[in-house]
Formats: sequence, structure tokens, C-alpha cells
Amino acid sequence: MVSTLSVRPLVAEDRCDRCGAQAYVRVTMESGLELLFCAHHARTYEPRLREVAVSIEDETQRLSETRASAPLDER
Ligand SMILES: [Zn+2]
Repeated sequence: MVSTLSVRPLVAEDRCDRCGAQAYVRVTMESGLELLFCAHHARTYEPRLREVAVSIEDETQRLSETRASAPLDER
């Protein structure tokens, strides 16, 4: 049976550990430590993170969805 992780989705209050922007990627380390990254920094650190992380939850696709439905372009 698949173990049910009590992982909550990332929300607006979750901030990138590097720059403080909204986080879209949660990285869980072997130690259980969680790191949060914005899309930019997740991409920057991805090669290294893949070596050390046990799980990487990438919710950056939500970013493009949000952007696509953002009313900013509607004039
Ligand atoms: Zn960042």
C-alpha cells in the first residue's frame, strides 16, 4: 500500500528560502529537512538538488496556469 504522506500543497505563505518569493517547489532532504524554492531558484539548484534530495515536489506548472489566467493581459 502506498504510504500516505501528509504533504500539504504549497500556498502563498510559502516562501523561497533564497529570495523570499512565493515558493513553488518543495525539496525534502534525507534528513527530513524541507527546503522551499521559487521557480527561478528551483531551476538554478535543480541539478544539485536531484543529487541530495529524497523528494522534489514541483508545482511550477501552477505558475503558468496562474499566469495564463491572470487578468493582467486583458485590456
Ligand atoms: Zn528564489
